Amino acid sequence: MKFVFLGPPGAGKGTVAAKASGFFHAPHISTGDVFRNAIAAGSPLGLKAKDVIEKGLLVDDETTVSLVRERLEADDVKDSYILDGFPRTLPQAEALDGFAKTEWTIYFDVPDSVVIARLSGRLICRRCGCIWHKTYNPPTKEGVCDKCGGELYERGDDKPDAIRERLAAYNELTVPLIEYYRKKGLLAVIDTNRDVSLILEDMKKRCCP
Ligand code: AMP
Repeated sequence: MKFVFLGPPGAGKGTVAAKASGFFHAPHISTGDVFRNAIAAGSPLGLKAKDVIEKGLLVDDETTVSLVRERLEADDVKDSYILDGFPRTLPQAEALDGFAKTEWTIYFDVPDSVVIARLSGRLICRRCGCIWHKTYNPPTKEGVCDKCGGELYERGDDKPDAIRERLAAYNELTVPLIEYYRKKGLLAVIDTNRDVSLILEDMKKRCCP
């Protein structure tokens, strides 16, 4: 199954995608992770994306589309994948339609107030990528991942100014994609305010009847 995960930052797309990837045997492709890895590696892509990402803005469509197009040429994603965080603009969605056939778009409907609360205080494990939260899901020992003992950090773009910019970009540029996919009959609205296992069951019922 070829999925697009659509929704605001902090909606839980990454957490659900990580689990859904095993459940549906679909590689998880997060454009945000690709950019963060490129920044960590100091590659030309990373150098290009660093400032934009730290400000909470979007990387340009041409760069983003070409990296997704290239990734989708690999053998492991011939039949299935989960695109998490792509497309984020209408030109990206139209470009994707030109080289891949999206089967389902899962829309994570989460209000701005919840997004702000979730992103402020979000903690990520440097080693395993597991996501924690200072208030809602705190690790047992401050700064240490319960799962693997790795060091926890706060993303640079989870700071108040960048969160505001990211939400503004989402509302202006990404929200129109809800209608885009609804009109194509590909939109599945899932109640994502529940345990991940229930979300996966819902996705299965809805998308693989
Ligand atoms: P994410 O981890 O999905 O929240 O992405 C982190 C940041 O990477 C975003 O705030 C953007 O700056 C950049 N980014 C990720 N995906 C895209 C995309 N599809 N188009 C443009 N920028 C993106």
